[in-house]
Amino acid sequence: MTISLNSETVPASATNALVLEKTPLERYVAPAKPSLVGLTRAALAEALGTIGVPPAQQRMRVQQLWHWIYARGATGFDHMTSVSKELRATLERHFTLARPEVVVEQVSVDGTRKWLLRLPSEHPGEPPHEVECVYIPEADRGTLCLSSQVGCTLTCSFCHTGTQRLVRNLTPGEIVGQIMVARDRLGDWVGTERAKGPGLPTEGDRTVSNIVMMGMGEPLYNFEAVRDALNVTADGDGLSISKRRITLSTSGVVPMIARAGAETGVMLAVSLHAVRDDLRNELVPLNRKYPIAELLEACRNYPGLSNARRITFEYVMLKGVNDSAADAKALVRLLKGIPAKINLIPFNPWPGTRYECSDWEQIETFSEIVFNAGYASPVRTPRGRDILAACGQLKSATEKLSARERLALRAMAMTD
Ligand code: SAH
Ligand code: SF4
Repeated sequence: MTISLNSETVPASATNALVLEKTPLERYVAPAKPSLVGLTRAALAEALGTIGVPPAQQRMRVQQLWHWIYARGATGFDHMTSVSKELRATLERHFTLARPEVVVEQVSVDGTRKWLLRLPSEHPGEPPHEVECVYIPEADRGTLCLSSQVGCTLTCSFCHTGTQRLVRNLTPGEIVGQIMVARDRLGDWVGTERAKGPGLPTEGDRTVSNIVMMGMGEPLYNFEAVRDALNVTADGDGLSISKRRITLSTSGVVPMIARAGAETGVMLAVSLHAVRDDLRNELVPLNRKYPIAELLEACRNYPGLSNARRITFEYVMLKGVNDSAADAKALVRLLKGIPAKINLIPFNPWPGTRYECSDWEQIETFSEIVFNAGYASPVRTPRGRDILAACGQLKSATEKLSARERLALRAMAMTD
């Protein structure tokens, strides 16, 4: 039997658990009229330079545009009443304020929303790329889970995204664009009417209050775009989401962890999932490059750690694989000395997976050991399973599930 991997055809036996990383296949091709959405201040100034705005005026113009784009959510230049008519017309001729196109919006019974977004592909005639973005509302916050890549070059064995063949990095605009889409859809701009609906937050002044880079892709494999996007997101004159409310999740790209700390300053989450290298090699194959001890050393050195600013260790609960009481005790020993939170994630099944979610009693036993060792160990309740939005289930419609598979997944969600 052969399987197709990134346009090459290789014997399945050769790929069996040995595929550490896939080669990125696609490159970004800009649309004819570029969008200004997602640009940093420096990139905006450069864009203005290309249409003849003199350097002496650029700072002031950037400040104006910044406010309209990121604080007000303007979708057209004609809304920008503080900008001269002439400049608005010039901007209109050269740029857009386009967000990624929303192909599908799904709203779960629990209020979770998922948007399937369409992004341009490399060659004319080639199908466009698609990426997913998920919004998880709670009473006091609304968390938006962003994707950093179409697909993922890594191949974690329990992750649905890892089975997707098509891979390309998102641009900063496409990453920030996901926030713009969510704010548009949720009426979350200054002066617009907030969306109402089951599950949406009723406290706080923001519908999108928190950001997690936990969607499709490995953010530290698209570091510069992610860094620029997060710095735009945290800018106090614009989208203004505090760095303490932004979390970047990595599967453990050790050499990039220090840079992530220094250049973004956001909160770090690490997908640990196993306490022994032999098992982690199997679950997170990147562990063969960067084993647990090196990963934890990089975590210890993450800048700004304190009891108020901890690293979140994510641990997916896989039945009979990593969920024993001995694993829980080893986990606690392993994290000793690191300001840490532990997030136990019930495994979200997907069609064709060989794993099952741990039994509830087992998760409780595990969680109790972790709790008794002094860690708050909230078990992340799976959200939005009826729309396939939960962790690790993000896989765009480029590889559509059959109707039967969707039904099977819904049925699983119902029987929880
Ligand atoms: N690539 C990054 C971020 C995206 S994955 C990373 O791996 O950290 C976000 C989180 O979802 C990770 O902790 C990942 O391990 C977890 N995850 C992946 N598949 C899952 C599944 N099927 N069930 C539960 N969690 C899963
Ligand atoms: Fe990629 Fe993260 Fe999924 Fe691993 S868990 S395949 S790193 S998205």
